Amino acid sequence: MASVHILNTLSRSLEEITPQEREGKTLSLYTCGPTVYAYAHIGNFRAYVFEDLLQRHLQERGFLVRRVMNLTDVDDKTIRGAHAAGIALADYTKPFKEAFFEDFRTLRLQEAEAYPCATAPDQIARMIAMIGTLLEKGHAYQVEDGSVYFRIASFPNYGRLAHVDLENQRPGQRVASDEYDKEAVADFALWKSWVAEDGSVGWESPWGKGRPGWHIECSAMATGLLGETIDIHCGGVDNIFPHHEAEIAQCECAGGKPFVRYWMHCAHLMVEGSKMAKSSGNFFTLRDLLEKGWTGREVRYALISVHYRGALNFTFDGLAAARTALGRLDAWRERLIETAGLENTAESTDPSTEGFFAALDDDLNISSALGVLFETLRESNRRMDQTGEGALTPSQARGLLNWLARVDGVLALEPDAVAIIPSEVEELVAARAAARNAKEWQKSDEIRDQITGLGWTVKDTKEGQKIIKA
Ligand code: AMP
Ligand code: ZN
Repeated sequence: MASVHILNTLSRSLEEITPQEREGKTLSLYTCGPTVYAYAHIGNFRAYVFEDLLQRHLQERGFLVRRVMNLTDVDDKTIRGAHAAGIALADYTKPFKEAFFEDFRTLRLQEAEAYPCATAPDQIARMIAMIGTLLEKGHAYQVEDGSVYFRIASFPNYGRLAHVDLENQRPGQRVASDEYDKEAVADFALWKSWVAEDGSVGWESPWGKGRPGWHIECSAMATGLLGETIDIHCGGVDNIFPHHEAEIAQCECAGGKPFVRYWMHCAHLMVEGSKMAKSSGNFFTLRDLLEKGWTGREVRYALISVHYRGALNFTFDGLAAARTALGRLDAWRERLIETAGLENTAESTDPSTEGFFAALDDDLNISSALGVLFETLRESNRRMDQTGEGALTPSQARGLLNWLARVDGVLALEPDAVAIIPSEVEELVAARAAARNAKEWQKSDEIRDQITGLGWTVKDTKEGQKIIKA
């Protein structure tokens, strides 16, 4: 198995990803999902597309990836939104959850194993149990209004992920909001006592009616579904502090085991120098872009084609460049299909094509990987322009198509309507060619009917039979 290296945010160095079990192949992957108080914007999707590339590449390299992505359907923002709309929290978040999954599919993101919702009764029960353990162990304390806070002074490693120096901070201060700056390092809320603005949102707990803080939600859902030690945990860089820092503190203090082995964070999608964010109003949802005539595939290309830790500025020129690149890939694919014809044997591709996957082994170096892809395209197009010696043979074209299928497994950029001809149909087409050669016209017609019955149309052209999806 090839070794995949990634930059671990915790160690700030390149590390090889290995499974926890010596001979194992399974990797657990937890990715912080959307807060469903609005439509996700394409900045959020930069994070999910990067995680998708990671998952698909690990799978290509033989790992079994167990991915869990949570949905934050109760926090300060969702409650504020439901309150402003004057409807119940679940009614407020429902359409955003549905829209999220629709966008998820449009961007060809691979399905996760589970999408736990923070408000699910079993998840709330787990959060309450974890908070109970943290109180028992002295890592948390209750304040006058009933709320429970995490005592960061009780966890010396607090700040390690974000490289925040606790010595110069003011432990003992408290912060009730889910998000805060490094400058305000302070004890954070695990359980927030019910207040009038919460309306009908609240759960009974040993500390009275209230709701969980955002950070404990992810800690409970991640360890509940993937175990106390997770292999890879991802998110955008804005999640490092305080969210992931808090997740580590809660899990390691409650469970006593290391929480995450590899932390990975993507850089922000920017708009004219600022982070694309709902709060700044400088965002596009996927829906906005689809309405303007762009496709999910084009948006996926634009997001995936820049290294996940590199600066990516959102522009319409960038989308146009994605459209051009995809057009070149599609034209090339068509040419390869034509050249391969009905050739079944595949000649192995030039060893340089493995460079595509080797580049991704190196902390998902997508620019190099795309470099290999387009160099292969250029070189084989050149050979398809030739005749005679040096021209690409059908079996070489078939070999390139097989390689491209592996590339598609990782990039998922194939055209929407790529119809992969099932082997059953391929066999019938070959049998029909044999029948026609033997001038067995009735048999040839019968086979054509069988092919039609399987949903394919066969046309006889000068170059032989052409198969298209009916
Ligand atoms: P949220 O819905 O705000 O909880 O964010 C969901 C995910 O999107 C998190 O992993 C964030 O780090 C990530 N994210 C938010 N804004 C951006 C952005 N502009 N670029 C990249 N990732 C982002
Ligand atoms: Zn999270």
